[in-house]
Amino acid sequence: VKILAIESSCDDTGAAVLEDGKVLSNHIANQKIHEQYGGVIPELASRAHQENIVPVVDIALRTAGVKPEELSAIAFTQSPGLIGSLLVGSCFAKSMAMALNKPLIGVHHMQAHVLANFIDDPKPDFPFLCLTVSGGHTQIVLCESPLSMRVIGETLDDAAGEAFDKSAKILGLPYPGGPLIDKHAQTGDPGRFKFPEPRIPELNFSFSGLKTAILYFLQENQQQDPAFIEKNLPDICASIQQRIISILLNKVLKATQETGIRDVAIAGGVSANSGLRKALQEYGEKYGWRTFIPKFEYCTDNAGMIAIAAYYKYLAGAFTALDAVPTARAAF
Ligand code: ATP
Ligand code: FE
Repeated sequence: VKILAIESSCDDTGAAVLEDGKVLSNHIANQKIHEQYGGVIPELASRAHQENIVPVVDIALRTAGVKPEELSAIAFTQSPGLIGSLLVGSCFAKSMAMALNKPLIGVHHMQAHVLANFIDDPKPDFPFLCLTVSGGHTQIVLCESPLSMRVIGETLDDAAGEAFDKSAKILGLPYPGGPLIDKHAQTGDPGRFKFPEPRIPELNFSFSGLKTAILYFLQENQQQDPAFIEKNLPDICASIQQRIISILLNKVLKATQETGIRDVAIAGGVSANSGLRKALQEYGEKYGWRTFIPKFEYCTDNAGMIAIAAYYKYLAGAFTALDAVPTARAAF
């Protein structure tokens, strides 16, 4: 089974080729245009997708050494995401499926983030819990099979990625700031500054209070010393990162206790965070979990994860009609 998958939910255009569950190629074209605006501009994102999609699909097929006629199916991200961005990928995938007379498979982007854990070995056993932490979502997902999963906890306001990016913005770091907080945190003392851990019921999260606490903390200190951020950047980043991680993992701990599940995976762009990866392993050792973390390239948006999700759908015969439409929001 050979699948071409296209990802275009936000600001990166991705294409991947998968053969029987193995990724043969996985390419991505990043959009630099949004950096100067400090966030993704949807209209500019869809235009950049239009420019990038042909070269990215072409290089994915070529590095995989697969001809379009050999494909078993064409997959694309159907939801959720920016509608203009999704439309570019879905129209392209549909046109290709129609021209080649191949089946089409629409994939749920958040389901694909979870299934990124099935690209390489070792893979989690079912049922397992997945903490999906990305730019737009923060979810604890209970996975019973590749195509049967449900959200048992989620954020009530900002996503974990937004908490990183907004904190970075307050610190004057460029967008997206998550990776930069990670970088500066590596030489900082996470215990230096204390930020509050919110009390949120059940398995849900909230990050808006943390953001406000960081803002006031920095404003106060900058008033006394205008070079406060400059002098303390590593410690500030390490302290913020530490708090975001403890908010996340304490809820995962609660979820393992409530469900009795011991296989715990993480997914999404924030799972690229080195502090979170390390902390998950430490929690795992302490509480006896088996932990799973995708390779870096499968954490942030990529088409490899769309391809693996499409592979399971292919095996289940879950194809998508040519008149299917992408949607900005959708449950699993
Ligand atoms: P969604 O999947 O919810 O639609 P998205 O696709 O935009 O959102 P991803 O690409 O999965 O999100 O993740 C992007 C987020 O991950 C950004 O907020 C970014 O700052 C964050 N991120 C990436 N690398 C790191 C890192 N090393 N540390 C912290 N955050 C990071
Ligand atoms: Fe994503």
